[in-house]
Amino acid sequence: MKLHQYGSNIFNEFRIKCNECSGLCCVALYFSKYDGFPADKVAGTPCRYLDNHFSCSIHNELHSKNMKGCLAYDCCGAGQIVTRLYGEKNWKSNPCTAQEEFDVFVKTFYLQQISWYVSEVLTLLPAKVLWKEADIYLHELHLLLKSSPQKILDIDIELLRTNINILLNKAWTMVKKQIANSENITKKNDFMGHNFRKAQLNGCNFSSTLLIAANLEGCGLTGCNFLGADMRDANIKNANLSESIFLTQGQINAAIGNLNTRIPKHLIRPTAWR
Ligand code: SF4
Ligand code: SF4
Repeated sequence: MKLHQYGSNIFNEFRIKCNECSGLCCVALYFSKYDGFPADKVAGTPCRYLDNHFSCSIHNELHSKNMKGCLAYDCCGAGQIVTRLYGEKNWKSNPCTAQEEFDVFVKTFYLQQISWYVSEVLTLLPAKVLWKEADIYLHELHLLLKSSPQKILDIDIELLRTNINILLNKAWTMVKKQIANSENITKKNDFMGHNFRKAQLNGCNFSSTLLIAANLEGCGLTGCNFLGADMRDANIKNANLSESIFLTQGQINAAIGNLNTRIPKHLIRPTAWR
């Protein structure tokens, strides 16, 4: 079943461009060794492996060192947007605005994530009646992201999320209607380590569920809603997610797939799966 229709590549703007970024994720964010980062680190301090040119000095060893957190992280393009907004006055050359830049980065990441979901609505054939509304939201988000650090800081993310969630829920309802035999197994929200191997889960709602280390090998996942699901170490080998909805690059990066895993066209197959 075909649920997505891709026109011009509206997802290009979300591809990370680390060479156009001042290493923001490696400085601004808190991270822990437990989650696959080099060490426990507080927000606002640079990772010890970030070099003077804002590059990761152990980039080629991230796989061999099992830095899963670093490999999976995806800022949805927020890093290069914020780096552009601050120009020469980045967190390193201008420490007095560093904290503000980190705060803008975090908010920009949320805005990019919201824009990603709205962009996906614009590809969903069953939700065609929502395309105009989605287009208006996207236009407003674009204007905001090109405005100024202060305007980004002033935005009420929770209010925006609430409004966008109404749109996403409407889209999801329309998708679900298209899926025959839609199972309703997903009343609970914790499937950590659960074995679904080879199950036909088409049309299931996994939004906001824990799928950490769940076994989804060989599963049919057409029309499944993965909005905000935690997919770290979920086994999606040989699974068909090509028409799953509201999946992000970060979720795919954090899961374990293989060359037979089918993913939506707007996502990139992680190199580790080869
Ligand atoms: S913030 Fe994004 S663009 Fe910048 S280094 Fe991190 S992943 Fe790359
Ligand atoms: S190890 Fe590299 S990618 Fe990971 S946080 Fe440190 S500098 Fe960034």
